[in-house]
Amino acid sequence: MHKPIYRGRFAPSPTGPLHQGSLVAAMASYLDAKAHGGQWFVRIEDLDFDRNAQGADSHILHSLQRCGMQWDGDVTWQSQRQSLYQQAIERLGDQVYPCGCSRKEIADSRLRRGEPASQIYPGTCREGLVAGKVPRAWRLRLPQPHHVVHFEDRYLGPQQQDISTEVGDFILKRADGFWAYQLAVVVDDAEQGMTDIVRGADLLDSTARQIYLQQVLGLPRVRYLHVPVVNNALGEKLSKQTGALAFDRGDNDLLHDALLPAAQFLQLPVNPHCTTISGFWNEAITLWRQKRLEHAIKIT
Ligand SMILES: [Zn+2]
Repeated sequence: MHKPIYRGRFAPSPTGPLHQGSLVAAMASYLDAKAHGGQWFVRIEDLDFDRNAQGADSHILHSLQRCGMQWDGDVTWQSQRQSLYQQAIERLGDQVYPCGCSRKEIADSRLRRGEPASQIYPGTCREGLVAGKVPRAWRLRLPQPHHVVHFEDRYLGPQQQDISTEVGDFILKRADGFWAYQLAVVVDDAEQGMTDIVRGADLLDSTARQIYLQQVLGLPRVRYLHVPVVNNALGEKLSKQTGALAFDRGDNDLLHDALLPAAQFLQLPVNPHCTTISGFWNEAITLWRQKRLEHAIKIT
């Protein structure tokens, strides 16, 4: 019998060096690909030019290699793929519309309607720009009044979100001219033939939007697995903003300082006395595969 082809990826943003939380996400996607006998790719998500840090992409790639995580094929950079996003937005035709609202106007109009001033877009420009407004962002028109997206997460189980009421018409191209994360991810994953997305649960909330975009763009659906995110002592998600340190400081013992703690976080009981990085991976891949067989991580 033919094994299904598995293609997975790790897709960091080059805003700084990888911290322990991003290592956990990278490790989970790498282990899942290897446990399936699949391929594992790296894509640098560098579309937010204001947040990119000089040299962070090469630091990230070097750290992955120092950890023994070698990717398949060539690394891709989203900044070099913008024509694909342009083609996708053109394919969506009048499902996409210009929005002239500022952030403040969106919050104000929700307050006027007695609703919390959250990020949910109230649909102000859906039927056309108000006179005197200039297009700022481009939004995707969602079905009204409800559109519930259901999906099965391989770790978290059945999930659902009413994107029309819980998200609203979301942005595909931002007011600053940058492509939105949601569009770029969906276009790239399909164009690169990804079958499985393994990432941190901080991105769980984006999944329904991405599935809807796959549907309207006529792209294949992928499987999802969201692993828990690493928090700091204050219970905040590790990130550059919350002061997370690079796990690779150039001269530290990556096996004991980074890889073994990341495996422990993923509840993989790798022998703490293992002495080589290749030995670590052999054991971790076996344990991940067993975990899958025990249905701790579902096979879908
Ligand atoms: Zn608007």
